[in-house]
Amino acid sequence: MHSHEHFDHLTNVDDALEIFLKTVEKYHPKRELQPLTNCVGRVLAEDVAASQDFPSFDRSVMDGFAIRSLDVQTSLPSLPVMLDVIGESRLGQDCGIIVKRSQGVSVATGSIIPKGADSVVPIEDILQVSKHRISLSSPVPRGQNILHKGEDFSRGKVILEVGRRLRPQDLGALKVLGFSKVHVARKPRIGVMSTGSELVEKNAPKSRGKIVDINRLILLEMVAECGGEGVDLGIVDDDQRSIRDALRKALRSCNLILVSGGSSMGQRDLVPECINLLGRPGMMVHGVAMRPAMPTGLALVNHVPIISLPGVPVSAIFAFHVFGLPMISRLLGEQEVTKAPVRAVLSERVQGVLGFRFFVRVKLKRTEMGLVAEPLKNQKSSVLKSMVDADAYVVIPEGVAEIQANETVEVTLLR
Ligand code: AMP
Ligand code: MG
Repeated sequence: MHSHEHFDHLTNVDDALEIFLKTVEKYHPKRELQPLTNCVGRVLAEDVAASQDFPSFDRSVMDGFAIRSLDVQTSLPSLPVMLDVIGESRLGQDCGIIVKRSQGVSVATGSIIPKGADSVVPIEDILQVSKHRISLSSPVPRGQNILHKGEDFSRGKVILEVGRRLRPQDLGALKVLGFSKVHVARKPRIGVMSTGSELVEKNAPKSRGKIVDINRLILLEMVAECGGEGVDLGIVDDDQRSIRDALRKALRSCNLILVSGGSSMGQRDLVPECINLLGRPGMMVHGVAMRPAMPTGLALVNHVPIISLPGVPVSAIFAFHVFGLPMISRLLGEQEVTKAPVRAVLSERVQGVLGFRFFVRVKLKRTEMGLVAEPLKNQKSSVLKSMVDADAYVVIPEGVAEIQANETVEVTLLR
């Protein structure tokens, strides 16, 4: 177990997050106009109202016959009503026919409902069909099987609200309403820096003892996945001047900076000190009551939030999940989404760490009894495999010493 004697004070996770998010409370992301094909996963930066009715004409939702409901209201199996079929409303065309008393027009799904008709009888409900006549054995409610003009989206109504992350179906709605571009939040620039004089870009025979930098790769990819634009700030030595120079440069162009390594209280942990020397207010939280990722720091310099993440990759990942994701979401102006909780039954007892929020990596198995969460054997933060094998994590709250086998817990999926 880690010692945390060096931290006089650890901040509770919720308090830390609140302090950190408050630093950008009134943030309005810059926006840019983008063609719909670039917009999936982007956050809408305007309310979009329907500029027209959709559909723009009453259309049939069935293959069948457009008729006047009044004409068939007396029909019975024993007393069917006959109608004359006077033509066809073909898909994509306006037939111009006007349906009069005791007449019907053949329609397909999507056809314009010809004038005079007020309902559609599906082909399968027709008692008898001949070339020019149909007979019906039951009445038809008015409006049946018609999608009316503006029924799907009605002109002037807001269809998508600012802050919504756009999905393919949302883009379909925008297109059908005549939009080819929309305003989305500009991707926040997220600087990603690895610190550590021992870090190298790749293994080489003469670099025994060196450590391959993987945090930058992982963090840049997580940033891209959640809609940020990663800015690669490279590897920086454990040296005050180098760290400060690199940070100073990043502060000019980034909306958020993620610095991994050197975030603890050791002699070579220079990041928090460098941050404090760069500007105010500097470090706002240093040391969070969580495991992994206790030595996380949260800062603000010249209005730019900074996360000082622990160097251990698993810890860096958790620090990103807990603080990076919500911050990026805020920088995007994303509306909070209510996610349905995923629940699973614990396969075995897990122990918490009193006073700490403990993140237990689990494998999920689908069984007849529902989802089962199996805690991975090795929960050490030094073991990357625990993250690679994990499907999800379970949060054990600060005040909980253990959770028994067969208890139902909420899990957070790791995509
Ligand atoms: P630190 O937080 O700087 O004390 O680093 C803790 C451990 O994580 C050390 O073994 C580092 O070598 C390792 N480490 C730090 N940064 C990285 C990184 N970017 N990629 C992989 N391992 C790292
Ligand atoms: Mg280090």
